[in-house]
Amino acid sequence: MNIKARDFKKIVILTGAGISAESGISTFRDANGLWENHKVQEVATPEAYARDPQLVWKFYSMRRIQAAKALPNPAHRALINFAANAGSEIHLITQNVDVLHERADITGKLPPLCMHGSLNQSRCTHCETVYLDDHAYFDLDGNYAPSRTELCSAEERTRDEYLHHYKLEYAHFLPLSPCCKAPLRPHIVWFGEIPFFMAKIEKRLRECDLFVSIGTSGQVYPAAGFLQVAKSHNARTVCINKEAIPQSHMIDVFLEGKAAEIVPDFFA
Ligand SMILES: [Zn+2]
Repeated sequence: MNIKARDFKKIVILTGAGISAESGISTFRDANGLWENHKVQEVATPEAYARDPQLVWKFYSMRRIQAAKALPNPAHRALINFAANAGSEIHLITQNVDVLHERADITGKLPPLCMHGSLNQSRCTHCETVYLDDHAYFDLDGNYAPSRTELCSAEERTRDEYLHHYKLEYAHFLPLSPCCKAPLRPHIVWFGEIPFFMAKIEKRLRECDLFVSIGTSGQVYPAAGFLQVAKSHNARTVCINKEAIPQSHMIDVFLEGKAAEIVPDFFA
């Protein structure tokens, strides 16, 4: 079956780590899931933040620095070009927090729903206000030394919710929110927390006529269940990945290979 994205009217795209692989984003798998001898699960949980918030901010400062050095690849750009030129309604959902979809999209045509949060946002732990914030609060030696990365665009830096409009305050080497003077935390969905936008995502999955998953392992719920929702509402389903995923029986078209090579062709 030879189908292309342009044959469809309402498209939902789900992206995972595989779309960022050619951009050089580390998934910590190469280091056996370790960061400085900590399991990633030990620095990406509410319990870790309660126990040692500085350690958690050191981890996320490093990730902000690393993400800012990565660049969008041809797969990210192909989705933006398609959205800018196609007559279809397109919704992008990403499990990635690396901001590469947003940085590929200078015109703002395809804002992603970041279901696991985003590295360029922080949140007040008291009132939950979310701020655009691309600071690395700790340098790579672990010293408290706030410095801006380039994870927010020039346009975003002019917005009211951009944290840097406020005087940066801190206590106990933790950044404080301007609203409540409470500790800020990364606006990231940690292990054990519920992903964002689930009701909106569910609605879009029920309404789409094409569902495309790109670079996801199909093993992390709830994202792994999206395929089933779309399929049960009669959408065609396409999977682009470098290896087969467990839900292969629900996939109409499986395109095996690197996202940076296949996505530009499917979305041409
Ligand atoms: Zn607040």
